[in-house]
Amino acid sequence: MAEPITLGPDGVLSVPDEPIIPYIEGDGTGVDIWPAARLVFDAAAAKHGKRIEWQEVLAGQKAFDETGDWLPEATVEAFRDLLIGIKGPLTTPIGGGIRSLNVALRQLLDLYVCLRPVRWFTGVPSPVKHPEKVDMVIFRENTEDVYAGLEVQADSPEAGRLAAFLSDEFGWEIKPHSGIGIKPASESGSKRLIRAAIEYALKHDRPSVTMVHKGNIQKFTEGAFMNWGYDLVREEFSDVAVGWDDCDGKPGGKLLVKDAIADITLQQVLTRPEDFDVIATMNLNGDYLSDALAAQVGGIGIAPGGNINYVTGHGIFEATHGTAPKYAGQDKVNPGSVILSGVMMFEHLGWTGVASDIVRALEATIAEKIVTYDFARQMEGATEVKCSEFAAAMVERL
Ligand code: NAP
Repeated sequence: MAEPITLGPDGVLSVPDEPIIPYIEGDGTGVDIWPAARLVFDAAAAKHGKRIEWQEVLAGQKAFDETGDWLPEATVEAFRDLLIGIKGPLTTPIGGGIRSLNVALRQLLDLYVCLRPVRWFTGVPSPVKHPEKVDMVIFRENTEDVYAGLEVQADSPEAGRLAAFLSDEFGWEIKPHSGIGIKPASESGSKRLIRAAIEYALKHDRPSVTMVHKGNIQKFTEGAFMNWGYDLVREEFSDVAVGWDDCDGKPGGKLLVKDAIADITLQQVLTRPEDFDVIATMNLNGDYLSDALAAQVGGIGIAPGGNINYVTGHGIFEATHGTAPKYAGQDKVNPGSVILSGVMMFEHLGWTGVASDIVRALEATIAEKIVTYDFARQMEGATEVKCSEFAAAMVERL
């Protein structure tokens, strides 16, 4: 019988063999990639004697058309109650007070980690010579920074009042006709993100965590993020981890926590990818870095993500690309991103056998050059298949 996933008193998820998992199909190409991914998920779970009771919840265009609401309360409640869910891409409504449904979901459930593993799968076309050297896991802070939505439009009364306040109280002169944004970075927000990255690195035997920041310029936000990270290592992890300055870069068997400036990091992940393992970074840096890295290993059609609160147990895994409306309903696009989001979800649930079977099937399918259009156009001798055919080919290889 299907049952909900629950959080035990020890903070560990309790996952039944038949969990109820809410999903958002997604707008645009969601109608193509979700059914394809589900085929793969159900077949892989069945192989391990498990079954998922999928519960559809609405968001985006489909929700608006059916309920008049872009993000119905029932959807948020389902994710709140059932803890773990998965979603396809959502249209960002123009106007109407909601900036982005994804951001709204992250904020409502306080999903403070955006987790983006970036690794290469054999056979996937890549623009770099050694994509196999890329194997990083990005922990991007998900609730603060310039994404907090604290900004005012140029020439609005609010911008005028804020500029006057800054001039009167701080002597900061803002040029006329300026939009103004606020960038908050808190100690608690930074520490919980870096804590999650360190715990992940320890659990998965990764040798280092790199805090990527722009602290040389933004000392009290990005610089503070780094300092709070090093404090955290001393306060909570001194028996198992050590900061770079406290060991001269020689961790002596402990997890090494180091830091790197964001701009040089964007060069080095390209030129020396093997130096990076787990990355902990603030919201905007994380946004740039995760997409830049995704390009190195095959791009947007195959990059998965998860938004997680490790304390409350909530998590929503998602395709990281958008709705690609020009391809919607054509059974054409790559379902890889949502399939690999499912892999992340199964790993998070402790269903590691299900997850690794799916990865193997994906690699086997791509190795035989059976791919969707996006990979086919970059591969010689590929057999281009539809989205659903790619999923069926994966199921055959499970
Ligand atoms: P997009 O939907 O990500 O599409 C941009 C391009 O990426 C596509 O034209 C296609 O490139 C490629 N692409 C996207 N999905 C693919 C897939 N599954 N397989 C292969 N290639 C894929 O970005 P957009 O056109 O800027 O945004 C469209 C809508 O999505 C907007 O409403 C935006 O707000 C929303 N959005 C949602 C999310 C989310 O829900 N997580 C994220 C980003 C954007 P080619 O044409 O070159 O093949």
